[in-house]
Amino acid sequence: MQRLVLFDLDNTLIDRNGAIHDWAAQFAARYALADHASTQLVESVQERALPATFETVRAQYRLRPSADSLWRQYCSDIATAVRCPQKVLAGMDALRATGWRVGIATNGTTDIQNAKLQATGLMGRVDGVCVSESVGARKPAPAVFEAAAVACGSRLSQGGWMVGDNPETDIDGGRRAGLRTIWIHNGRAWPGRLAAPDHCVPDAEAAIALLLADGCSRSVTT
Ligand SMILES: [Mg+2]
Repeated sequence: MQRLVLFDLDNTLIDRNGAIHDWAAQFAARYALADHASTQLVESVQERALPATFETVRAQYRLRPSADSLWRQYCSDIATAVRCPQKVLAGMDALRATGWRVGIATNGTTDIQNAKLQATGLMGRVDGVCVSESVGARKPAPAVFEAAAVACGSRLSQGGWMVGDNPETDIDGGRRAGLRTIWIHNGRAWPGRLAAPDHCVPDAEAAIALLLADGCSRSVTT
């Protein structure tokens, strides 16, 4: 029987936070903005980056390029800045080689998430992807997990795993969607108000090692 695992993208498989800080510093330098602009820019895109975000940025710093042009440049810059560790890419291959169906369930706009998936080499290493914008819902909505499962040729009703860094959207959302869960803690403590994940690991590489171990495989196939 095929086993399913869905991964979050940002700060799970790729270091979005690092890429955003690099981008903000470059952006501030490109437009000769004041020193504190870099911090403000990070705050502007931290939670969510949308085309409309750049209407605000353009007005705030009185920039000449159109908001659409700034947004497209942002997508390109972030896609160039993000990296997926080689061990994680190899881990995705190893999962699929051992019978896992591997998918990505990510919140964001389709163009930037797809650009990151292409640039990091992840797009060619997964069975299916669901970007929230394409289904008109965001994690923790079950529709996003279901669409990712279907993109992988599976269904949530067949069970599976969700791996992610966000306690609410990835782990609580995944659990409510009927998936078992692995939380990427990135050095943080689990928020006690939420039901605990099945496993806590420091990073995606450790999550993949856990999935490749016999214990996770058996628990999914039963
Ligand atoms: Mg994330």
